[in-house]
Amino acid sequence: MSAPEKEMSSSAAHQGQAFALNDASLEELEAFFLARGEKSFRAKQAFRRIHHLGSRCLDDFTEFSLPLREKLKQENALPGLFLKESSVSRNGTEKYIFESPEEVPGRDGLRKRVFESVWIVSDGRDERTRKTLCISSQAGCTLNCSFCATGTLPFIGNLRTYEILDQIYQIVHLRQERITNVVFMGMGEPFHNYDNVIRAARILNHPEGLHLSARHITISTAGVVPAIHRFIDERQPFNLAISLNHPDPEKRKPLMDVTERHSLQELLQAARRYTTELRRRITFEYIMIPGQNMDPEDLDKLIRIARKLRCKINLIPLNTTLQGWRAPTAAEIMDFQNALRNAGILAFNRGSPGKDVDGACGMLALRSLSGTTPEKTKASEI
Ligand code: SF4
Repeated sequence: MSAPEKEMSSSAAHQGQAFALNDASLEELEAFFLARGEKSFRAKQAFRRIHHLGSRCLDDFTEFSLPLREKLKQENALPGLFLKESSVSRNGTEKYIFESPEEVPGRDGLRKRVFESVWIVSDGRDERTRKTLCISSQAGCTLNCSFCATGTLPFIGNLRTYEILDQIYQIVHLRQERITNVVFMGMGEPFHNYDNVIRAARILNHPEGLHLSARHITISTAGVVPAIHRFIDERQPFNLAISLNHPDPEKRKPLMDVTERHSLQELLQAARRYTTELRRRITFEYIMIPGQNMDPEDLDKLIRIARKLRCKINLIPLNTTLQGWRAPTAAEIMDFQNALRNAGILAFNRGSPGKDVDGACGMLALRSLSGTTPEKTKASEI
């Protein structure tokens, strides 16, 4: 096997899926073009076209000969997502629903991956210029966090790298605005799709691509401990967030079933390793649920955890009513946040942007569950 062929064999292109130019790293593209007898510089041309200039059509690839373009078209080498609809929240947050062009076998025949992304409007004084895109890494989720609508959906699969990236490229194109931050906090557990998520993050960060700073890309996990260690071992430059949600090892289990496999103690050890070895601050997300994780003893335990490592806590009011739980009042949120701050902990109230369009944290796929359709504001195929 030649070197390029060996490299190709480890890429997504050789895992039973047709090769897609927009699914590949620059190195994988080089291997692809060399294996076809093309010059390696074609890779950089293709990479720039797709990831820097945002081309979504092979006709734009005017550096390529017509026969090469035609051949790539026949091979469907530049697939794209279908934007089914989008809904704008009162505060300007916008939720987008995408469908993959690929069909996968399901119980009732072939079906397509459907998933959501959210454009989040910054409303904090210090964050006025933030334009954050929250993207999905899976269609559905195999975990079952009890406050999250996505966890109740059937799992339809991991997103390919191009499916992750095309959420961003389509939204940037539609809005004609640059993004400042990308967070992997949409549908799915990103670390259950580690390779494709990291490849997508690296492409976003690449100087020949969008060149988004690694510090502006955040990957959030519910607590897949082995993947956190891998992330640290690989010295990945991206921010890491952990969806903590309960400071007690036993009480976290009914909230987050991932705790059955990876204990809170192991998770906190991994978090500490991240902060000490990579010398970075870790983010804990904390969905506030009165009666579940906001009692004084919960607060004390949370403070004890947070004092032991370099972290900040993002507080998020509960947005769903799946378990019959209620959202905290404004006063309860304020008291909880103030108690953390008084204890010297960095704690921010992230609020519920996009709640009125089911785009807030934990709500993605709520429309699917209720069988209702959000008001369509746009529907287009770009
Ligand atoms: S919160 Fe994240 S990990 Fe948990 S069920 Fe929802 S999508 Fe999956």
